Amino acid sequence: MNEISRKELQKYMSRYDVDYSIGDFTPTVCALNGITPPEACGGMEIAPVLDQAHHLFGSAGGARRTLIFCPDAVGQKHREKYPDLLARVERLAGLRFLSSSVMPSVTPVCYATIFSGASPEVHGIRKYEKPVLSVPTMFDVFAAAGKQVAIVAVNGCSIDTIFRNREVDYYSLRSDELSHRITRQLIKEDRYDLIVSYYTSHDHLAHVSGCDSPETVRALETAVNYFENLVADTDRFWGSVNRVVTWTTDHGNHPVDEASGVHGMDIPEDMLVNHYYRIRRGSPGA
Ligand SMILES: [Zn+2]
Repeated sequence: MNEISRKELQKYMSRYDVDYSIGDFTPTVCALNGITPPEACGGMEIAPVLDQAHHLFGSAGGARRTLIFCPDAVGQKHREKYPDLLARVERLAGLRFLSSSVMPSVTPVCYATIFSGASPEVHGIRKYEKPVLSVPTMFDVFAAAGKQVAIVAVNGCSIDTIFRNREVDYYSLRSDELSHRITRQLIKEDRYDLIVSYYTSHDHLAHVSGCDSPETVRALETAVNYFENLVADTDRFWGSVNRVVTWTTDHGNHPVDEASGVHGMDIPEDMLVNHYYRIRRGSPGA
């Protein structure tokens, strides 16, 4: 446990009066897979996730496959505003954790924390910039444990950039649609233990057309559709093994005016997000 990371993550948890941090994601997924979290981690394992896994997998079992879906910029605010859409995610996942993000609440800073458990002060990305992250991440400890890891994302985005130079296969595509198609193919081929699938359009359209423009809301709906497709694929092609699917977003957003949205501030609209976990036991013969 890195104490500096712990303290910084806790600062935002107390400020927003929540029990969880986006920094809890890495230690939780590591624990589900029986892997020690990376050393800069200050997040905590989420007990209800592990309790459910323990109940489903039995005391000796861990997850064999993990699919991490990352829709950018879906805050608690979106859940309040579009309850029907996010209810579809919650219905499939079963487990939801209201969590605080980190500052500044921009994509590379937040995903660096999500995939390392380290706070910005420790992982070193403290503004909108996309250097290759130098602290160890979930991807490093998975690779060291012999796991096959794939990251699927649009060209040049934060997730495509900051986790380079690791024992990972990088699928860098020109659109979310292609990323989604490739992710579905990878699940079907079943060559990876851990797949990250990133979705940028909701964030992008909020910036350029407004947080609640028809285009942005349509993109949010597409994210939910994609999540449903991926869950169905994992049930179909990974059905025989213990598996985890997550909805893992980085921050929310807020309007500048009707035609543009932004994030990066220490306000509830930007800082409060929900992380969802779906745990399923493998059925022999599935
Ligand atoms: Zn983002």
